[in-house]
Amino acid sequence: MNPITIVGGGLAGSAAALSARAEGAAVLLFEKSAFPRHKVCGEFVSPGARAVLEDLGVWDAFEEAGPAPISRVALVFGMRRKEWRLSEPGYGISRHRFDDLLLNKARERGAEVIHGHGEPSGTSIIAHGRRESARGERLFGFKAHFEGPADDAVTLHFFRNCYVGVSSVEGGRTNVCGLAPERVLRAHGFEVEPILGGNEWLSARIQPLTRVMDWMITGPLVFGCHFDGKVTAGRYLTGDALGFVDPFTGAGMLGALITGLRAGRAAATGISPREYLRECEAALGGAYRVAAVFRAALRSGVADWIGPLIPGKLLLSLTRPKY
Ligand SMILES: Cc1cc2nc3c(=O)[nH]c(=O)nc-3n(C[C@H](O)[C@H](O)[C@H](O)COP(=O)(O)OP(=O)(O)OC[C@H]3O[C@@H](n4cnc5c(N)ncnc54)[C@H](O)[C@@H]3O)c2cc1C
Repeated sequence: MNPITIVGGGLAGSAAALSARAEGAAVLLFEKSAFPRHKVCGEFVSPGARAVLEDLGVWDAFEEAGPAPISRVALVFGMRRKEWRLSEPGYGISRHRFDDLLLNKARERGAEVIHGHGEPSGTSIIAHGRRESARGERLFGFKAHFEGPADDAVTLHFFRNCYVGVSSVEGGRTNVCGLAPERVLRAHGFEVEPILGGNEWLSARIQPLTRVMDWMITGPLVFGCHFDGKVTAGRYLTGDALGFVDPFTGAGMLGALITGLRAGRAAATGISPREYLRECEAALGGAYRVAAVFRAALRSGVADWIGPLIPGKLLLSLTRPKY
């Protein structure tokens, strides 16, 4: 039997490899980067991920990696702050650790992993991450790790069309990750710290921390999904290649795990790409729609006023992928 080809060994590709192997399919996975590698990401793994990681058979390994438990969420709009306790914890874990862990598990379970550029061939899972585009206002993401006092909250600061998340990851480190329009970055010579310094709450939060890696910048970022895009026989788009949800939701990794798991299962058991896309739309469509509305509100400045009025728990649940 020809193997299923997987292009990309991020969370979606590795989840696909694990679920395809669980169905007994042969898997050939291509990953172009040397692992472990850092990646621009808020590194907040959403509540709800545990069930998916258990079904992928990697929950114990995930726990052993020592993710930081995240039990509170705080949203800060200008000088107004709202905070709530999560009913189920989230987790802070670096992509350096998480992606490597999942790819190694896929390899251990029999996926053949080739380090190099891959192309779809035969039945294929496309897990190459998000697409980039130069259209519209160009947004860029940035991140760095810090050492210093840790916290059990993920805090998101919204200001001047930017937002910046601060949360703990394994090993007592803190991840600072945000999104800014190109014009804001350009105005500061693509230096991140002056942008953070312009926000009082953020400056106070970061002041006792020491940065332990260079800032990474990625982009331009393009939000949107392709659930109703052209379907090609034998091709399963998954993770960010299928759709990129606004990072403020903290739902991208969960979406990548869910669609990856489903793609691997579908490819291995002969579920058609169209049927697979219907499953993905049912799981993720609502989260994308709510995130798009919130992004438009952020862009127009309305979110600074209505954001503090929206019940946080409701916003979180509306932007959660279903599993
Ligand atoms: C600024 C920012 C903050 C974010 N914060 C969060 C957060 O806090 N929580 C959350 O859940 N999500 C967050 N996300 C979203 C999250 O990072 C993504 O949803 C997630 O990385 C998607 O995983 P993926 O496997 O689909 O893609 P990726 O992680 O991008 O993996 C794709 C892999 O494919 C490889 N590849 C690409 N092309 C090829 C090729 N031709 N051949 C071989 N290999 C290839 C790449 O090297 C890469 O390793 C954030 C995103 C951004 C930009």
